[in-house]
Amino acid sequence: MSDHASATAPNAPTRSTNRAFSVFAGLLLVAGVLTAIAVGMWLPDTSPDVDRLWTTGPLLVIGFLLAEQLAINVDVRSGVAWTISFTEIPLVLGLLVAPFEIVLAAHVVAGVGTLLGRRVLDRAVYNAGLMFMEISVAFAVAEWIKRLLGSEGPFWAGAFVGTIAVPLLASVLGLTALRIMGKGMRVAPSLRLVLQTLVVALLNTSAGLAGYEIADKAPWGGLLIGLVFLGITAIYLAYSGLLREQRDLEALSEVSLRVARSGRHATGPRGTAPEDGEGSENDEWQLIAERIREQLNANRVVLRLRTDPQAPMRTLVAGEPLSPGMRRDDPRVLREDAMLQLPGNSVRYYRIVDAGEEVSEALTRRDAQEALVVPLRGATQLLGAVEVHDRLSRWRGFGKADIQLLRTLASHLSTAVDNRRLLARLRHDAYHDPLTGLLNRPGFREAANEPMREADTAVVVRIDLDVLSTVSDALGQAWGNRMVVAAGRRLRDELGPEVPLARLEGGAFAALMLDRQAERIQEIAERLRAALSVPYPVDRLTVEAGAVVGWATTADCEVDEPDPDALLQRADVAVRATSENEPLRQYAPSMGQIFLRRFQLVTQFRSAVENGQISVHYQPKVALPSRQVVGAEALVRWKHPEFGRVDPDEFVPAVEATGLIDVLTDFVMDKALARVRRWIDRGLRMSIAVNLSVRTLADEEFPDRVAAALKRHDVPPELLTFELTESGVMADPERALPVLRRLHAMGVVLAVDDFGTGYSSLAYLRQLPVDEVKIDKSFVLGMGTDLGDMAVVRSIVELGHSLGLIVVAEGVEDDAARDQLVGMGCDVAQGYLISRPLSEDRFEAWLRARTVQVRGARDETVLTLVH
Ligand code: C2E
Ligand code: CA
Ligand code: CA
Repeated sequence: MSDHASATAPNAPTRSTNRAFSVFAGLLLVAGVLTAIAVGMWLPDTSPDVDRLWTTGPLLVIGFLLAEQLAINVDVRSGVAWTISFTEIPLVLGLLVAPFEIVLAAHVVAGVGTLLGRRVLDRAVYNAGLMFMEISVAFAVAEWIKRLLGSEGPFWAGAFVGTIAVPLLASVLGLTALRIMGKGMRVAPSLRLVLQTLVVALLNTSAGLAGYEIADKAPWGGLLIGLVFLGITAIYLAYSGLLREQRDLEALSEVSLRVARSGRHATGPRGTAPEDGEGSENDEWQLIAERIREQLNANRVVLRLRTDPQAPMRTLVAGEPLSPGMRRDDPRVLREDAMLQLPGNSVRYYRIVDAGEEVSEALTRRDAQEALVVPLRGATQLLGAVEVHDRLSRWRGFGKADIQLLRTLASHLSTAVDNRRLLARLRHDAYHDPLTGLLNRPGFREAANEPMREADTAVVVRIDLDVLSTVSDALGQAWGNRMVVAAGRRLRDELGPEVPLARLEGGAFAALMLDRQAERIQEIAERLRAALSVPYPVDRLTVEAGAVVGWATTADCEVDEPDPDALLQRADVAVRATSENEPLRQYAPSMGQIFLRRFQLVTQFRSAVENGQISVHYQPKVALPSRQVVGAEALVRWKHPEFGRVDPDEFVPAVEATGLIDVLTDFVMDKALARVRRWIDRGLRMSIAVNLSVRTLADEEFPDRVAAALKRHDVPPELLTFELTESGVMADPERALPVLRRLHAMGVVLAVDDFGTGYSSLAYLRQLPVDEVKIDKSFVLGMGTDLGDMAVVRSIVELGHSLGLIVVAEGVEDDAARDQLVGMGCDVAQGYLISRPLSEDRFEAWLRARTVQVRGARDETVLTLVH
């Protein structure tokens, strides 16, 4: 409390709104003055030597002033600070050589002078009371000791004890003041404080007395003492500087550490910090504000901060609370407050005594006398500001070292906050899908992990948008992306903001359902599918899409501790097990078998070709309306020793994926050309169609192999047709087009298969070297019941013709369809109505049984279907 007449004593807060303290200070002043009068009357008249007084008085004033100036502030951890000063030295000398009134006057003059010099007039009442009290008690005790000892004791005993009494008194009064202000310290630290005060007081007092003795008795003693005093002062100043520097460094590293720690609560994979994380983050910033306040020994620190560009500015206050009006976390405070107009990075020091009108208004609003303000400036923008209000010291305002420290602190804080933002950003990016803003796979893992463990039941749902690859292939990545974004938004709307939702890859999404939601999973899956099945407006087109949903629950996991990956993998299996008829499926362990089977198919394919398990079936194509058999489509078949007949729809994609597709294509082409060769040998002119996969179209050597095969079987190229899907061509037109052009140039017929399921327009076909278009069987099959399908078929026929293409309809299953196609002018029909795909032998038998030989237009033999 007293940092003047004592050696060490805690400082009371500079200012207090506390009424009790004001009363206490007032009482202290009255008591001090009364005590001074009483002591003055009680003390024996010393009839001072007036000449000496003219020198002693000013010397004492200088002594008191110097003792104050050289004081160092030591801040204790609790936020209370005390000052080590040398006030005991002039005091003990005063007690020895000067009368009571002079010492009292000198002390008061020095005190007032210091206060005026610092322009800190706070707590003046308390301090004045203290000064009167201190000097009065010192003299009273000294006189009492003198009388007690008589002439027995040393002449300095009275002065000694009197001086020691002063810091004790100041400590007790200071601690009382603190208690009254509600900032009381616990007993143990209080006692330690008093003890420390006593030690320094003893040291100062003995030094003062020894100095006096030497100066008085030894020749040139005064000079000697002066030199010793100078030396000690120099060492002392250096030491106090070091002390301060070290403490500042400690504070800096502590603050930096705290900022780093606060960053740990930053954005998790959910995109926003969880609620409790926000709390503990605020706690860290609060502690940072406290630490700054403690270090700068200030009455209050206001930390304004925006750590997240989206979030509002936060205001944290350490020390005395701000008035409610000032606390507003309003960004306008930063913009309009006169004190916060801070261009650059420097620290501003505002004092009410010399501030302009606006600034002093701003200070008044904060109920502060002085303030240090520094902006927190990040690499790109203003992050906030730190305000430090009122130094908690009786004499001093903020000094150079404080400004220096605050500047460094601010730059550390800004950098740390900047880094934190960057970190949060990186973290966010690592866990989110940039396209949809949803979680990505690692983000989902992270977000699902804990809730999954805590829930009774958890379900991971996987939702796959089905036409995505076709859209991207046909219209380009950008369109596909737009669809994905739209799908993600629909899922989010359907699930609400709380459910962890991720985009895994392509058009695949995953969501986590817990407990109550998990019970209704079937219903939710249905809803999600319905949401994704609403047509997508893509530019001026409308894209129809569907979705399949597969899910796995924690109960499906055999392992004790199911993790998101295990469930994701099982949901993936469930999705793969979906089909057109069963678009929603829950994982079942038996589904694993499907993949085992697929794996076996792939590994066994090559040997299957060699062992004769692979064969080619033929399905006739018939011209409309003439019924002439124009050729057949070659369709591959696998008779597996274990699985029986395997559908090409199952194994062709698998074979494709492993790069064995060449083996397949070459095998089918070879068989098919051999068949054509035999027909030619019999005088029959019928073509054969072979399906190509995307991979084949990317193979530059393929046309050479085709040429070789045609040559080997001696078949004219126009009797060979290649069927390719439009998405197959569009997947990589750069590579597919040269191959197609070469095939076309050779005279091979090119057909676009499954036309209508993709998204390119017929007009686009013009740019491809194709001769034939095959209307997808789904339209042909739907023609009888769906007017839309009918319209599609009709327009493909018309547009195909206008482009000079042969139009083939596949999937013709009944007479009605055939008749409609005839009516539309469709060129060729293929389907179960005419024949199912048949093995070589059965196909030959079919030809014999169902067709008659006729003479063709060019005098060749052709086969015509009989009724
Ligand atoms: P795709 O090229 O569209 O072949 C036509 C499919 O429709 C064949 O199925 C055929 O049996 C079936 N189909 C024919 N007429 C009708 C009908 O009237 N109604 C119905 N509902 N379906 C009919 P398949 O043989 O199972 O072949 C499936 C797919 O496997 C083919 O579709 C083709 O994309 C692929 N594929 C077959 N053989 C080969 C091949 O040698 N190489 C390649 N790369 N793919 C092949
Ligand atoms: Ca085909
Ligand atoms: Ca087809």
